[in-house]
Amino acid sequence: MKKIGVFTSGGDAPGMNAAIRAVVRTCFYNNIQPYGIYEGYKGLIEGDIHPLTSKDVSNIIQRGGTFLKSARCKEFHTKEGRQEAYNNIKKYELDGIVAIGGDGTFTGAKIFNSEFSIPFVGLPGTIDNDLFGTDYTIGYDTALNTVIEAVDKIRDTANSHNRLFIVEVMGRDAGFIALRSGIAVGAEAILVPETQTYINELVTKLESGTKNHKNSMIVIVAEGDDAGGAYKVAEKVKEHCPNYDSRVTILGHIQRGGSPSAMDRVLASRLGNAAVDALLANKTNIMIGVVNNEITYIPFSKATKHHQKLNADLLKLAEVLSF
Ligand code: ATP
Repeated sequence: MKKIGVFTSGGDAPGMNAAIRAVVRTCFYNNIQPYGIYEGYKGLIEGDIHPLTSKDVSNIIQRGGTFLKSARCKEFHTKEGRQEAYNNIKKYELDGIVAIGGDGTFTGAKIFNSEFSIPFVGLPGTIDNDLFGTDYTIGYDTALNTVIEAVDKIRDTANSHNRLFIVEVMGRDAGFIALRSGIAVGAEAILVPETQTYINELVTKLESGTKNHKNSMIVIVAEGDDAGGAYKVAEKVKEHCPNYDSRVTILGHIQRGGSPSAMDRVLASRLGNAAVDALLANKTNIMIGVVNNEITYIPFSKATKHHQKLNADLLKLAEVLSF
């Protein structure tokens, strides 16, 4: 291996810069020239590919977003688009690629690899933590901390006014952010897409909170919950309890940005380093993750086929502690 390309793809996540840095520095450690591919698969197709220096990744470990930029690229879904990508990989003589992204990114990599046999390694970079084959994804911990900081502030107001707040967090298909942040802020209820939401059960819970003289109540709703988003849930609760003084907050994109937490920086550094080592060891067509704090390698086919399940113990814990 003489040249390795690296890109970020799909939604940005805090810690992506730290992962790129680790890839670049590990390349130099092994006398490999790293190349930055800008805007994910789009840059691969358009040839937006540039050699990186060690200095290019100075002072970025603490920055959110991704300096290589990210994009969703329709052309990569077509055979012609992927052929262009292959032509550019050959033109720049890249011997391997590190792709940092989510499920879609790895699906694209798997298809590409089956057509052109270019060594690809994937790193899980998404705030959603919904990838099978890793306990944590890069960006999840930071997103959780952002949610917690925001909801703690909301709790102050909720407490001062005896209010119910219904807070919507990211998670179209998965409730990982909702579940962990909900436990961490002591939410009275947590609504996630993985379990059926019954509004009457939620109302019973809230009423028991009122009976127990709770000064404030917080309901965390994942955006993809089957009851609808936070506004829908608030409407339904209002139908049952018209006297509740309730408010809705949608946290939205603040959950994606910001300086990565210590955990995300270290995770990204470990994974970026392991990605280059894996390519050097001829391990390819895999996502690298951490399971029980150990680096693990999982084929793209498995990582994209299975769904990460919510931890049943944590669901139970949330239930017990919200009483
Ligand atoms: P996030 O979890 O943040 O959404 P992601 O990697 O799942 O990240 P996607 O937008 O689903 O984000 O995928 C990123 C890119 O991967 C797409 O824009 C597209 O270029 C490529 N891709 C996704 N699915 C396929 C596919 N089936 N075939 C070819 N390329 C794909």
